[in-house]
Amino acid sequence: PEQEKHMYKYTRAHVGKAITPFSDVVISHASGTHVTTMDGRRYLDFTSGIGVVNTGHCHPKVVKAAQEQTGKIIHSQVNIFSSEIMGDLITPLLEVMPDPSLDSFIFWNSGAESVESAIKLARSVTRKNNVIVSHGGYHGRTFGTMALTTSKTVYSAGFGPTVPGVFVTPFPYERQVPAHSHSDMTSYCLESLELLFKQQTAAEDTCAIIMEPVLGEGGYVAPPPDFLKEVKRMAKERDVLFIADEVQTGFGRTGKMFAVENFDVVPDIMVMAKGLASGFPLSAIVSRKELMDKQVVGSMGGTYAGNAVACAAAKATLEVFREEKLLENVNARGEQMRTALRKMQEKYPIHDVRGLGLMIGLEFNKDVPANTAKQVTVECLNRGMMLLNTSVFETVRFIPPLTVSAGEVDEAMEIFEDALKTVFN
Ligand code: PMP
Repeated sequence: PEQEKHMYKYTRAHVGKAITPFSDVVISHASGTHVTTMDGRRYLDFTSGIGVVNTGHCHPKVVKAAQEQTGKIIHSQVNIFSSEIMGDLITPLLEVMPDPSLDSFIFWNSGAESVESAIKLARSVTRKNNVIVSHGGYHGRTFGTMALTTSKTVYSAGFGPTVPGVFVTPFPYERQVPAHSHSDMTSYCLESLELLFKQQTAAEDTCAIIMEPVLGEGGYVAPPPDFLKEVKRMAKERDVLFIADEVQTGFGRTGKMFAVENFDVVPDIMVMAKGLASGFPLSAIVSRKELMDKQVVGSMGGTYAGNAVACAAAKATLEVFREEKLLENVNARGEQMRTALRKMQEKYPIHDVRGLGLMIGLEFNKDVPANTAKQVTVECLNRGMMLLNTSVFETVRFIPPLTVSAGEVDEAMEIFEDALKTVFN
């Protein structure tokens, strides 16, 4: 414990305060649904590094693929040559796309970098500039994406004026729309979008609408069934592109490979990251070749984009999805968890248990004291489980690896209820 404490103090002394972890735990290694500290304490990980290690920490297949690739070529710079492994990844990636029209990729490192790439694609092919985002959305913290993120002010704290031309439309989440429109949030939101086009950003000036199919950092909220389809329809009528940010929802998190499949909507551009490579820094945008081909030759690039080792890890990740039938587990474990949490709803001040697959949000009643959700996560940590809160409302989110077992879910539910007992006692 002394060594761990020392290491924590040492890193805190030499890492900028803008990066401050949720816990003072120092992890030395991880496997499956568990992370282990320097002094050997094991935690049940229901964060998956914010929805990244969907195949579990250090899945042996992913580890092996990365190790083998490391011995072949590590750095395959995309502006110099093409790599064999990127080609090998594209075939299985095409097979899991939500629609055959999505046939062309550009690979990057992070989610935010890919969001920016999506906006640049939309601007360059439409020759229009403005972007519409939704209330409660999160698209990253880089200089460009900071303008698109509306889930919390801390993400733009002190960082000055953001990129102009961003307009915000309501998302059908009861906390984000006025009470009188709760019974038909979809109509309210679509009418607001219509007005936005009439009053603030004309279709002729708007290149894209970007939305998360399920709000992530904004509270784990799935929209009503028709909402996204209608947004896409309204966009299409106006020659505006519809971008789905699947950074957190993609790669099985919601029970389908991509969340848009739950809503029967095909985006013009889709953004992927996190689960794509099980923790290696790899992200991508996908769109129609016809759109991508309109960009100026050689106008994009990046030193580490589409890194070879990350591509190998992504290829192995897709194999794990197939071989271990991960989507079946997502739906079964998701049901198991929602059932257990709804039982707790009868005893504790829980307003809502929601979400698709293993992207589950639990919001406490409006009248609970501030920081209740955070306090619950701290009590879970004290009992050996990592859990995150989310949004500006009192909400916790369950994001275990998609490989989580029924026994681990039971254990997590016991820990969670025990934490509730302490906090609401
Ligand atoms: N979009 C969404 C929906 C996200 O959840 C995130 C990360 N939480 C991002 C974009 C940004 O990704 P990154 O942190 O890799 O830049």
